[in-house]
Amino acid sequence: MSAVRVTVLLPLPFDHPFDYALPDGMALCAGDLVSVPLGKRMVVGAVWDDAPHTTLADGASVRLKEVAAKLDAPALPDDLRQFIDWVAHYTMAPRGAVLALALKANLLAPVGLARGSRRAAVAQPNPDFPGPVLSAAQAQEAARLQALVQARDFSVTLLEGVTGSGKTEVYLEAVATALRGGRQALLLLPEIALSAQFTARLAARFGAAPAVWHSALSPAQRRATWRGVAGGQGVAGGQGVAGGRISLVLGARSALFLPFADLGVVIVDEEHEAAYKQEDGVIYHARDMAVVRARLAGCAAILASATPSLESSVNAAQGRYRHGVLAARHGGAAAPMIETVDLRLAPPERGRFLSPVVIEAMTAALAGGAQAMLFLNRRGYAPLMLCRRCGHRVSCPNCTAWLVAHRARDRLLCHHCGHTIQVPTQCPSCKAAESLVPIGPGVERIAEEVQAVLPQARQLLMTSDAIGSAAQAQAAVGAIEAGSVDVVIGTQMMAKGWHFPNLTLVGVVDADLGLAGGDLRAAERSAQLLHQVAGRVGRAEQPGRALLQTYQPDHPVMQALASGDLAGFRTAEADLRRPGHWPPFGRLAALIVTADEAEAVTAACRALAMQAPMQAGLVVLGPAPAPFAMLRGRHRWRFLLKAERRVPVQAVLRDWLARVPLPRSVRIIIDIDPISFL
Ligand code: ADP
Ligand code: ZN
Repeated sequence: MSAVRVTVLLPLPFDHPFDYALPDGMALCAGDLVSVPLGKRMVVGAVWDDAPHTTLADGASVRLKEVAAKLDAPALPDDLRQFIDWVAHYTMAPRGAVLALALKANLLAPVGLARGSRRAAVAQPNPDFPGPVLSAAQAQEAARLQALVQARDFSVTLLEGVTGSGKTEVYLEAVATALRGGRQALLLLPEIALSAQFTARLAARFGAAPAVWHSALSPAQRRATWRGVAGGQGVAGGQGVAGGRISLVLGARSALFLPFADLGVVIVDEEHEAAYKQEDGVIYHARDMAVVRARLAGCAAILASATPSLESSVNAAQGRYRHGVLAARHGGAAAPMIETVDLRLAPPERGRFLSPVVIEAMTAALAGGAQAMLFLNRRGYAPLMLCRRCGHRVSCPNCTAWLVAHRARDRLLCHHCGHTIQVPTQCPSCKAAESLVPIGPGVERIAEEVQAVLPQARQLLMTSDAIGSAAQAQAAVGAIEAGSVDVVIGTQMMAKGWHFPNLTLVGVVDADLGLAGGDLRAAERSAQLLHQVAGRVGRAEQPGRALLQTYQPDHPVMQALASGDLAGFRTAEADLRRPGHWPPFGRLAALIVTADEAEAVTAACRALAMQAPMQAGLVVLGPAPAPFAMLRGRHRWRFLLKAERRVPVQAVLRDWLARVPLPRSVRIIIDIDPISFL
């Protein structure tokens, strides 16, 4: 007697598939989803082996448990399995952890009749629905993208164009081509709050809404979309479902792991956004992984941005990516005028944060019936509470961070761990009564100031505290579009992709904010963010104006924004990074060492430092306490590897970690291509 073995990858933090015995009469292929016993539980896994049916000698089979069942669900397509392996290898995450991203739908639950059949009845996006008549420049670029989609081969295009130039209209033509060819399109957004407005836009363009995919879906929605994307097999009433396969998905980064049956194009909108980096669990950059996904699927990738990342710009300049450019705003709308407001020359009143220049411009905009926006990337009322008597700063007991004052909740809150306390009536340190004062502005404080200087203005706070769901975002967007709001006060949530025709003025409360801290990309990111914010205004007939409040009007970032020469700024940035092999001319990998006990961290760092890799083209920086030396109660130190492109960073790290045995209390987090250095 011999038994047949099958290897099954489980969506758990193990790198290796597990062996199971194939029961008599069951046939399995690579990618099939199965339920298998693990300890006392049943787990859904995927058959991983390309040649699953290996005959085992007698005896060996005895210890193997049997596969419990083959699920009535579509198998994972080959390219998705390859993608999972690739992402795991690149990010150094266990393959099972990456598989978990692809199985974020409860596939064990019985197939919902209602859901399945309703989905089949839903209208499909129609590629032949009439779109706008493109300008000559737009049409030319659209034709190139359409040819690339039709080629059914891997390609990457960086689609660069100022805000309002029609990038979206142009890449939607590529989507239409994919759909016309019976293939699927995936459109990634950096922020799910944007999905409401985008869904409406896609519905208007294609006559039917896309499927959306993000973390806030119900289990039933997830299951229906997951199956619909895979081709609809196994859905009850399967008839109409072949034609009912979901063809267009609008998603957050995790949509990359959906089991697309036939992907025709992947689009990454606002490709420069740091929000594409997944910072916990499997740490990956969705923009980069989208390119990999397209390569494995053999389809076109399009990265769109008004302010491309240096990474993508360099790839385009070196010919690895095609570079498509839309030079002008559609319909001749003028680019916003960006001006700096020198806070040394036109300071706010004492205890206030808005320069008279900005207040005057807002007053004028509102008087003209337009809307204005104030941008400040700081949630809450004030970033810090300080004791007037002793100088004590109220900080989080679990994190290296100050507690942020939130007036709406009347509490102090840690933005890292969620620790919250009532506003103390006396200083925690010197016990002086009523001595704590808020220092610096958050958006709530700006709202208070607007209330004082423009009492008639109807305000809307656009922050993640005020707006927690896509529905709330939709309501806020509706209010702005309907003109029932005069002044929008927003955090970075307001910076992205929105389109409000009547918004003609934006004031940036603290344009210097992103330059502090000085990580590698601080200048690049500031320039992108501020440009993006400025791009929110003047999109229709009315010209827009952006005012940047700054103490450093001569800083290269402010100069680049005011002159509009972002390309020159990028060239200068590249020249700064090239000689030292900083990204994108070399690569970085961060090793974050954490533990509950400070001593455990330092001991582990010492052991790691003794064995640190030494080789040409590689520098190991650190160990050093992380800027957030404590986060959620855990102590943190960091190493940073800086390597020339030829160095196989993953192999070096694997080898290094294998040489240093560490206690279980210590956890190592590996971040390949880090974006955050905190
Ligand atoms: P981007 O993505 O570059 O910011 P969009 O594609 O969103 O630009 O275009 C900006 C605005 O101009 C949108 O309202 C869009 O519908 C409109 N628009 C762009 N191109 C055209 C066109 N050819 N005809 C009509 N409207 C257009
Ligand atoms: Zn905290």
